Amino acid sequence: MKDIKQEVIYKIEHESGCPLCSLILDFEFQLLSKLQLDVSNDENVRNRIARKGGFCDFHFRQFKKITNGKTRIVFLKAILDQESYKKEDFKIDCSLCKNIENYEKELIENILRILGDEQTLKIFEVSNGICFDHLQKVESIIDNERLKKNLHAINIKQLDRLKEDFDYMNKIDSYYEIDHSKRNLINALIQKLTGRKSGGL
Ligand SMILES: [Zn+2]
Ligand SMILES: [Zn+2]
Repeated sequence: MKDIKQEVIYKIEHESGCPLCSLILDFEFQLLSKLQLDVSNDENVRNRIARKGGFCDFHFRQFKKITNGKTRIVFLKAILDQESYKKEDFKIDCSLCKNIENYEKELIENILRILGDEQTLKIFEVSNGICFDHLQKVESIIDNERLKKNLHAINIKQLDRLKEDFDYMNKIDSYYEIDHSKRNLINALIQKLTGRKSGGL
């Protein structure tokens, strides 16, 4: 198994968006691909997920995008057959969200290790950093005030650099004349502001 810290560093070095969002999207896609196979082929798995009411709105949307009509019918029918909706306190318990939450916790611990190491902190500083959602989650578990302040200052520096990039792009008349790596900053900034769901399926 790959070391998660190394995976985060790889994303920081090679991609322009939030490295944590990017890893979660990869993880989510693998999970969803396996799940859609299980849901169509394995009655036990199908019924287990159906008893929980299926998925949250976001994951249902992703599920819809990667499944065919037949699979959707089979799965939705299973939800109705399980009749969990008859319970008074019926509420969807999305199994994908739960898996992702656990993985996210692991990622947050690993980004803390990266920020705490001078060598990897330097790599992080010159990147576009992490999204506001993840920044908040990281900050909520930092008890070192100095590191918290430093992280805040780094985030502002990263956004100031993006501001320069957008000033530059704004001066070019045709979008198609803009370098590909700069164009990528459009999605990177949206993700920085809003988190992974902006880049999902
Ligand atoms: Zn993120
Ligand atoms: Zn979900």
